Amino acid sequence: MQVFSPNMLKTFAECEKKYEFKYIKKITVPQPVSVFEKGKKIHALAHYYLRGDDIEKFLPTLTDEEKNIWQKLLNNEYFQKKYINSEYNLTARIGEYWVGGRLDAFMKDENNYYILDYKTGSIPKDPQTDFQTMVYLICADKILTKGWGSNFNLSFIYLDLKNNQNHIIEFNSEKKSLYENAITKTCNKITTTRIFNKNPDRCKFCEYNKFCKN
Ligand code: SF4
Repeated sequence: MQVFSPNMLKTFAECEKKYEFKYIKKITVPQPVSVFEKGKKIHALAHYYLRGDDIEKFLPTLTDEEKNIWQKLLNNEYFQKKYINSEYNLTARIGEYWVGGRLDAFMKDENNYYILDYKTGSIPKDPQTDFQTMVYLICADKILTKGWGSNFNLSFIYLDLKNNQNHIIEFNSEKKSLYENAITKTCNKITTTRIFNKNPDRCKFCEYNKFCKN
């Protein structure tokens, strides 16, 4: 079963050729480790903390900057909500396609549910219609609807830990159909594309530019 992740949809929307390199030809290009290291440590620590593990032995391994970010996360009001799950894999079917991804954390208070996404770097340019926002909300909505009918409120929270701000996207039926349409349209294009076009506007920082002569 093919499950489309937000990254797959995002990559295709940015450059079809890149999608072909990455997800069809499965060419992986090593990335500088430093770009991801900080975010990875904070995500892992948050997961251990939320599920109740003893994290004391990990704290001395954090740099001063990471300690500062960790403190901001601990103080964040959404991170203090009631824990449901973390590093939570969810999938959902939209028409003939499956989409899915892994939520950093899923929290609640009363009948309000929150998808948390920790950002140690920048948040998406347009968080309302980013594929990550759309896919995660659709997946969480399906799960909650199964259990609770329509008796819940659902939001996606980008925790911008660099600037100590929250970007909140509230889900509703209007967004549901907008998101399902956008996802279906992109899945349709992916599955019917035979010649993957290049997008020269995205080449400057593309890890595949050595494979891709423009
Ligand atoms: S180098 Fe440019 S055209 Fe080639 S895959 Fe990357 S973004 Fe697309």
